[in-house]
Amino acid sequence: MLNVLKQIVQEVNNASHLDSALDILVARVQNAMQTEVCSVYVIDSETRRYILRASKGLNQDSIGKVSLSANEGLVGLVGVREEPINLEDASSHPRYHFLSGTGEEKFNSFLGVPIIHQKRILGILVVQQSARRKFDESEEAFMITISAQLAGVLAHAEAAGMVLELETSKSKNKKVRQDVVIPGAPASPGVAIGTVVVLSPTADLYDVPDREIKDVPQEIERFQCAIAGARAQIKQLGEKLADLRPEEQALFDVYIRMLDDDALGSEVIRRIEENHQWAQSALRDVILEYVAHFDRMDDAYLRERATDIKDLGSRVLANLQESIKLPVDSDFPDNCILVSEELTPSMLGEVPEHKLVGLVSAKGSANSHVAILARALGVPTIMGAVDLPVKLMDGIELVVDGYRGRLYTHPSARIRQQFQDIVEEERALVEGLEAIKDLPAQTQDGHRLQLCVNTGLITDALRSVDKGAEGVGLYRTEVPFMMKERFPSENEQEKIYRTQLETFAPQPVTMRTLDIGGDKSLTYFPITEDNPFLGWRGIRVTLDHPEIFLLQIRAMLKASVGLDNLKIMLPMITNITEVEEAQYLIYRAHEEVLEEGYKAAMPQIGVMIEVPAAVYQARQLAQMVDFISVGSNDLTQYLLAVDRNNPRVADLYDSFHPAVLSALQQVCDAGKKENCVVSVCGEMAGNPGGALLLMAMGYDMLSMNATNLPRVKSVVRSVNMDFANSLLEEVMLLDTPQVVYSTVELALNKHGQGHILGPASRSK
Ligand code: PEP
Ligand code: MG
Repeated sequence: MLNVLKQIVQEVNNASHLDSALDILVARVQNAMQTEVCSVYVIDSETRRYILRASKGLNQDSIGKVSLSANEGLVGLVGVREEPINLEDASSHPRYHFLSGTGEEKFNSFLGVPIIHQKRILGILVVQQSARRKFDESEEAFMITISAQLAGVLAHAEAAGMVLELETSKSKNKKVRQDVVIPGAPASPGVAIGTVVVLSPTADLYDVPDREIKDVPQEIERFQCAIAGARAQIKQLGEKLADLRPEEQALFDVYIRMLDDDALGSEVIRRIEENHQWAQSALRDVILEYVAHFDRMDDAYLRERATDIKDLGSRVLANLQESIKLPVDSDFPDNCILVSEELTPSMLGEVPEHKLVGLVSAKGSANSHVAILARALGVPTIMGAVDLPVKLMDGIELVVDGYRGRLYTHPSARIRQQFQDIVEEERALVEGLEAIKDLPAQTQDGHRLQLCVNTGLITDALRSVDKGAEGVGLYRTEVPFMMKERFPSENEQEKIYRTQLETFAPQPVTMRTLDIGGDKSLTYFPITEDNPFLGWRGIRVTLDHPEIFLLQIRAMLKASVGLDNLKIMLPMITNITEVEEAQYLIYRAHEEVLEEGYKAAMPQIGVMIEVPAAVYQARQLAQMVDFISVGSNDLTQYLLAVDRNNPRVADLYDSFHPAVLSALQQVCDAGKKENCVVSVCGEMAGNPGGALLLMAMGYDMLSMNATNLPRVKSVVRSVNMDFANSLLEEVMLLDTPQVVYSTVELALNKHGQGHILGPASRSK
């Protein structure tokens, strides 16, 4: 059964749009279950009616015509109950509703299961039979399994279908379907209206986007060069591995023969010629067809060959990707919206800054590091748009609503205008905030808060200076490491750090030691683990590699000579001994650079409070260092046991959770008792409401992205401490993050500061 399931899922997965996916689904399920009928009813998002979209066994003329309201008939009942209904004699059930024209009157037994994706009913899968019998337990279990596995696939195909529909209708000069809404997680506030450019991260066949080409002969030539390149590489690899056993060596020969054999190549070329596809997508289609064919084979050995074909395809694809000339400024449209299956920090650098208006990623969440960088750059962003048909998006017009987490494909004039108005409102707000740029973050009754910025890129450092930041509370040193192809040398690091320190001098710059692991990987230092966020991260990596740590500290110290505005901060501290070890290495590096003649001052040293263990030992930690800074992003992830990068659980990730608030208060109190400076440098500090709560808790300094800094300052300047204290008192008695947030929002609205939060307010 497992094999049948796997095959059905794979075939449905490979279908290019919803109708063919559904046709395959009903045919395969009907066959596997040996029933007379298998149908699928899909809910129409506008009318909320279940429409018979595919059937094997019912009258084909009724497909697309017959429908039921959301609480009509047995199909409606399955949807309302959100559980299977299994009946021996459907017509005797009080909710039975005869669908005329379908021919279903012949069938007595009925089993319907809901297809649910992310709590949303997509449709109902039904099997029927004329014999009166109840479907047995294993049949019911099979239907539940198949519908659970296919829900995501169908949601994806549904979105793809809508986008495809746009494309085909456009070429036939029909009215296009506009404003198809695709949801995601709001990751960086703001609105963008622009044209999509799809970037794929690596040579992954499944991620290749569709793209049309004009010069067919040139494209064929490019493909032939890629084939030649792959052939030479395989040959070389086979020669290098001369010690292989003969059967393994034979595999290389098979690969070469497959490339020499005209079948694969000529099929790709035919597609380029006929469809004007670029070579990448023609190769993708041919290879995936072969793969599906081999996957369907009963023989296990032959099934395994699918992997070889995929490998071969990926190798040719890598050659094709290399042959693309590096894009230049003019290759990108003005108002470019970068879309990718998985956005990475280095992709942000690929689009010229003045053209980049929006970012969209199918994977990741609002708390992923790429989203944090996007916020720092002030680029509206949506993450975790899991149903996004990325491959079909290249070149289409799109609206990114970074407040609510929604995308609108082919926006109508009405939607365009609506969002253009928001863009104007935003611009006016930002201009208004300019006026307080040089004023302190001080409440009406004189309480002073220090507001700093988080940086990582040179561009965000430059942006921050004219936002009125009072220094850098967190410089993520791993960001420049992620932009390179090897570890930067001491000299290279020194130059990068010097620019940061000079940009802000005499104000302090808090440099965090390399914090890799989790979702921050270096291509040249891969870390593969089952549980990366609980694994080799931050200080754990650098203490295991003192050569990397020492080099980095030496570069920081040398860069600070004559400026003396450096502070050093240690990430992911879980044990007192980690601080001791790191301090020992910092002192050692300091002595070394002094001996080399650099007059570097000994910087202040601080630790980040990011894991629950550090919350409970905050007082001991505060005794050891000059400052403590809460990384509320990781602290939220570890306290709530929610992977900050996983879109499936993104709704559960919330820094306004009462448990997080209580931990934040505890850390602040512990630091104060030891006369240690306490700050927060996670994203919560950049939320105007969150900032007020943290100020009332007693935090001395907040560090945030440059975009939010003026907003936070404006709110701080508008209140007095009584307002902030009573708001904190009120929320500390509440028990859910949602109620905490709405209480804060309401208070700000009443205070006339609601506009600072933006149209849909919730930017965590
Ligand atoms: C944090 O965890 O809150 C933090 C500031 O560090 P990062 O987001 O880089 O993990
Ligand atoms: Mg962190």
